[in-house]
Amino acid sequence: MRVLIVGGGIMGCATALELLERDPSVEVTLLERAVPGAEASTAAAGILGAQAESHDVNDTQSLRLFLRARAAYPEWAARLGETGVHVGYRKCGVLRLAFTEDEASRLRAMAQAQGAQGARVELVTNPRDVEPTASPEARLGAFFPDDGQVDPPRLLRAILARLAREPRMSLRSGTTVRSLAIRSGACEGVHLDDALLEADATVLAAGSFSALVPGAPEAALRVRPIRGQMAELEERLPQTSTIVFGDSAYVVPRGDGRIVCGSTMEDVGFARAVTVAGVTKLLGGALRAVPSLEEAEVVRTWCAFRPYVPAPEARSLHDAAPPLIGRSDLPGLFLATGHHRNGILLAKLTAEAVASAILTGD
Ligand SMILES: Cc1cc2nc3c(=O)[nH]c(=O)nc-3n(C[C@H](O)[C@H](O)[C@H](O)COP(=O)(O)OP(=O)(O)OC[C@H]3O[C@@H](n4cnc5c(N)ncnc54)[C@H](O)[C@@H]3O)c2cc1C
Repeated sequence: MRVLIVGGGIMGCATALELLERDPSVEVTLLERAVPGAEASTAAAGILGAQAESHDVNDTQSLRLFLRARAAYPEWAARLGETGVHVGYRKCGVLRLAFTEDEASRLRAMAQAQGAQGARVELVTNPRDVEPTASPEARLGAFFPDDGQVDPPRLLRAILARLAREPRMSLRSGTTVRSLAIRSGACEGVHLDDALLEADATVLAAGSFSALVPGAPEAALRVRPIRGQMAELEERLPQTSTIVFGDSAYVVPRGDGRIVCGSTMEDVGFARAVTVAGVTKLLGGALRAVPSLEEAEVVRTWCAFRPYVPAPEARSLHDAAPPLIGRSDLPGLFLATGHHRNGILLAKLTAEAVASAILTGD
């Protein structure tokens, strides 16, 4: 079976690997207009925030999906680590801080809803008992001990190292898909500048650019870019070990002195810019959450676009519809896109679901 994958982010790469590992008759061609990981997938913070990211206390379906996704990580990380590239998986926990009574009552509601689903969460009146560098100004913390992190550029690199050993894998960097090839209401492959590539199955995994691929089905036309700005700091003496979410930024300690601070949520189309306002918000929020970062060095800044599908009647950019995973309305075309803030968390589960849909029709 010949499979074409459009886009070499985490979704495209993880799906390619899953297909090749499951079925010895599959041949995969991955088409990436730049280089694998050029966009959101290496820009991400890598938080596996199954609980910390579950803001909507009524959305138990997403919480259950996120918990399953998190549970898949330890084994996946260990297997990818056999390539010699360690993906930086750590179950370091996430501490969410509340500075106001409103924020505190939201944390209590989250804790109650998640506890009812059997997920571990601790409310702490002194957040510094959990993370000594957390702000003394916080009046409450919710600690999610089972959330964790990976290092996204390393995750991508490990998957690519595995793919490089697969003779049935062809990676074409610098190859832009100009359109899906649609005939008689079915997808038969893709058009490049100078060629038609035919396939038994085509996977649209172009992240926030999915709606821009001509021929994309209606579902994928709803994917929009949401810009996120990031900053990397360096602590000379690494002190912080838990991920800390403040009121306008999160702080992700990599464990080696690097600290990733994120992230803005901006509806500005594909305007690729790190702005004064964005960095001010990030660094101000990081300092409020972890005051000892005052002396940390700012090493670099960057931005990228989350693939966002608004929920019906969305009131904020946090209200996302479920990601688009599996069969589309077009026979022959499968979707792996629209993962918004949680694509790294959901990567393995998405790859499994898309591979099953292609190989077994499930
Ligand atoms: C700042 C930021 C922080 C984040 N933090 C986290 C986090 O902590 N935890 C988490 O779980 N998630 C996080 N995310 C979300 C996560 O990064 C995304 O959901 C995920 O990376 C999306 O992966 P993808 O493969 O769909 O898209 P991408 O990584 O964007 O990949 C799409 C690829 O398709 C290629 N492409 C596009 N059009 C074409 C074409 N026509 N032909 C060929 N190739 C094409 C692009 O070049 C790109 O490489 C974050 C995102 C951002 C932006």
